[in-house]
Amino acid sequence: MMRTMMDRRSLLLTALAAPAALPFIRHAQAADLPRFELGISSGTPQPHSVVLWTRLSGPNLPANVNVQWELAHDEAFARIAARGVEVATPDEAHSVHAEPRNLEPARSYWYRFTALGQQSMVGRTSTAPTPDAAVTELHFAIASCQRWDHGQWAAWRHIANHPPELMLFLGDYIYEGASSAGGPRAHRGGPVRTLAGYRDRYAQYKSDPALQAAHAACPWLMVWDDHEVENDYAGLQGHRLQTDFERQRAEAYQAYWEHMPLPRAVKPLTHHMSMHSRLDWGRLARFHLLDDRQYRSPQACPKPFRGGSNIVRASHCAELQDPQRTMLGAAQEAWLAEGLSLDRPWNLLAQQTLMAPYSREARSARETLTTADGSFRDGTFWTDGWDGYPAARDRLLRTVAQRQVPGMVVLGGDVHANFVADLRVNNDDERSPIVASEFCGTSISSHGAKQSTTDKNRAFNPHLHYARSDERGTQRFVLRPQQLQAAIHAVDEPLDTLSAEHISAKFTVAAARPGVQRD
Ligand code: FE
Ligand code: CA
Repeated sequence: MMRTMMDRRSLLLTALAAPAALPFIRHAQAADLPRFELGISSGTPQPHSVVLWTRLSGPNLPANVNVQWELAHDEAFARIAARGVEVATPDEAHSVHAEPRNLEPARSYWYRFTALGQQSMVGRTSTAPTPDAAVTELHFAIASCQRWDHGQWAAWRHIANHPPELMLFLGDYIYEGASSAGGPRAHRGGPVRTLAGYRDRYAQYKSDPALQAAHAACPWLMVWDDHEVENDYAGLQGHRLQTDFERQRAEAYQAYWEHMPLPRAVKPLTHHMSMHSRLDWGRLARFHLLDDRQYRSPQACPKPFRGGSNIVRASHCAELQDPQRTMLGAAQEAWLAEGLSLDRPWNLLAQQTLMAPYSREARSARETLTTADGSFRDGTFWTDGWDGYPAARDRLLRTVAQRQVPGMVVLGGDVHANFVADLRVNNDDERSPIVASEFCGTSISSHGAKQSTTDKNRAFNPHLHYARSDERGTQRFVLRPQQLQAAIHAVDEPLDTLSAEHISAKFTVAAARPGVQRD
């Protein structure tokens, strides 16, 4: 039996009035197995549609379950904008990807699901403005790297309590590994390499009430990184060089699609899944969502008999400079170059990892190597980020410079540190013009490097405005035609699920001039 509408409404209002109570709203009768324990989410907003997601939970689910979804103009669901029924099936882990159409652009909506006599929590979402709409302001946030067993997710509570219009999640939604003893939380089971394993890992992560609340608060845009499949994978190469990696990747991609608010059109049918996409936020900005995992060349100069990353001195690894090596793959690289918006003030690259060079020791040796492009100073680099693909990075930044792409801002994650940087065509030459600004966000919970190490490295990387590996949290942005304002939000106590947060730094980028100013 469902609760009455009046009960639903009063529950919801109570929840909103008391943020601490927001995350978990149960609507099941005591005797029922709860079927909406994994929460709900929405994402991939378009001017006339948005994806609504849930996955039914609990044992003994019927094979085919009708799941009703409703999208309303009001929180009481008195004015329904769209409704429908999706059939949840075991071959998609009883996930639901509803895609209401013919919606109004730039509108907020409320949504919920009903199945097996139970109702889900209620979420808020919105559609994007039309590409030609005049938009004066957009509030968005970035987050990445929520390793379950490294900490608590208070950062998500703050997103839920003060939701942006758009949440960008930039990779490492789950971590596939086992947990070592002594952490604040533990992964269920050992390393995950099968569809069943990935599904269970997503179910564990999605049981977190703070994450559920953040999903329910606003639409999300998603890109993935490596840990949704396996640490440091590159294209079809696993970091253990295992022979069945193609199967593992296919099963990981399937589970990823099942658990994300992504449209049915991108559901993977093989080991391939098309993730890169573009979203115009009116005439204000164009988001380019990139996939720098699926098509990349294997990392250069790996450890013996291994795939995956390494830390190498550039002068000792000629392969690094090979212009054939790619981060995005030729097709995506061309797609990006062709799609850069020249008639909007902002182009935002939502992608996985740090683009600014980050040398881990002094460049004082200044060994000069001759390359196809001339020469570069030496440095010691981690090969999994853009530092491992310098020729691909150069191509991208040269394209931005040559085409005079306005308002290029690179957003990233992966490195478990807040980095704010200027990007130059030639980052070793201070006279080289700044062509883009970078905000690489720290992790929600995954451990970062020691701050003393980051401080030491910072001296070798003068283009960095900010480098804090000891912070956990999110970065929040207010985008206007003339300027981008950024605020680093750091939680006070990463092991406390109720932790407060503070703003540790603020920055501004002027649309007329690439490069970051500290406020
Ligand atoms: Fe990570
Ligand atoms: Ca990563």
